[in-house]
Amino acid sequence: MHQPDCIFCKIVKGELPCAKVFETDHVLAFLDIAPVAPGHALVIPKAHHVNLFDLPEEAAVRLFAALSPVGAAIMAATGAAGLNVQINNNAAAGQVVFHAHAHLIPRHEGDGLRLWSGHPYADNAAMQAMAAAVRQALAPSR
Ligand code: 5GP
Ligand code: ZN
Repeated sequence: MHQPDCIFCKIVKGELPCAKVFETDHVLAFLDIAPVAPGHALVIPKAHHVNLFDLPEEAAVRLFAALSPVGAAIMAATGAAGLNVQINNNAAAGQVVFHAHAHLIPRHEGDGLRLWSGHPYADNAAMQAMAAAVRQALAPSR
């Protein structure tokens, strides 16, 4: 259930401190030690799972069920006008701590935090080909 060398498992076990904001039998939420903005929190399953792809459905449901109430409380406490939910999966996507977690980042108008910018497909055929490739990966036998 826990990984001895995982910092978030150590937080769950109480071996490392955290600024806790929410807890159930299965989920823990605490403030990020290096916040994008004050109130930036992490919501984690108490059991060790590497990331979203390693999360059993029941654990994912419990994690996602916490996002709305904890996110709303962070907005209320910080006076934020918005909130980003972000989950980084694998190093290529910026994951640094390999214990599944969702970031809750309170947002204020004009806070300067930039999201990614989009680039259109070359044409509709390229977009449809990508959709077909993803469908194929989901259900290769069809
Ligand atoms: P990732 O890039 O893996 O999605 O984000 C990991 C997050 O965990 C980072 O935002 C980082 O600031 C936070 N973090 C790393 N170590 C600790 C810690 O010991 N305590 C807390 N509260 N947050 C941590
Ligand atoms: Zn862990």
